[in-house]
Amino acid sequence: MSDDSPILETESVTKKFGGLVAVDTVSVSIEQGEITGLIGPNGAGKSTLFNLMSGFLEPNNGAVTLKGEDVTELQPDKRAERGLIRTFQITRELSGMTVMNNMLLAAQENPGERILPLLTQPGTVRAYEDEQRERAEELLKYLELWELREEYAGNLSGGQRKLLELGRSLMCDPDVLLLDEPMAGVNPDLTDHLLDRITELRDEENRTFLIVEHDIETIMSISDSVIGMHNGEILVQGEPETVQQDEQLLEAYLGG
Ligand code: ADP
Ligand code: MG
Repeated sequence: MSDDSPILETESVTKKFGGLVAVDTVSVSIEQGEITGLIGPNGAGKSTLFNLMSGFLEPNNGAVTLKGEDVTELQPDKRAERGLIRTFQITRELSGMTVMNNMLLAAQENPGERILPLLTQPGTVRAYEDEQRERAEELLKYLELWELREEYAGNLSGGQRKLLELGRSLMCDPDVLLLDEPMAGVNPDLTDHLLDRITELRDEENRTFLIVEHDIETIMSISDSVIGMHNGEILVQGEPETVQQDEQLLEAYLGG
């Protein structure tokens, strides 16, 4: 794979739910080290496209390619091993666990490419656990959640939860992160903190983000590229300034 080929691609993916075509022959390319925003009115197919990319849904047609490899048939955990992670809201079960244990569990759920061989060798498990604890500590400090490490996740504010979701994903050291509405329910105080961490992870660690977010202004301000969706189709993809002026997309938002 050459450096300038997309890190993640869909080729004519289609997903139907009964008679409804939620994602209709969609081909998109996500460039490495960029933040790509995915926007469109409710029901446009954004979450479905996310699920097709991360492997939580299988397409009726088409293919998904990650780092040049066809991953269409791979389950989410196998895609995670290859560096693609989709964030999830902190479930009820996780709410009853401490922030630190949330982080450690995330690493166990998706050990990642580098870690897996280690786990099969006797005597390395302990060293691995120490390493994960160190990584969790480092990330919690970075996200400014360290003071809350022994707090139950259920007691965190909306914004702190979003930071924890990001932290859990980062435990697996992913190359590509799919974030579904990372700003939802986040207090303005924490919005900038969260956005700064995301742009830093792009700029300093060359991580790739695909972000669905209702707050158009936010998406336009941090994205390198924006994809506009409506009725399961891509209406437009390009620089934020261009997409913002797209008439079809504007109509889609107004007309529903
Ligand atoms: P968005 O995230 O852009 O709001 P979705 O991808 O959630 O859109 O949904 C796209 C369309 O597919 C909607 O019409 C929605 O009702 C439908 N849909 C999504 N998931 C399912 C499902 N599991 N079963 C049936 N219909 C679904
Ligand atoms: Mg959605």
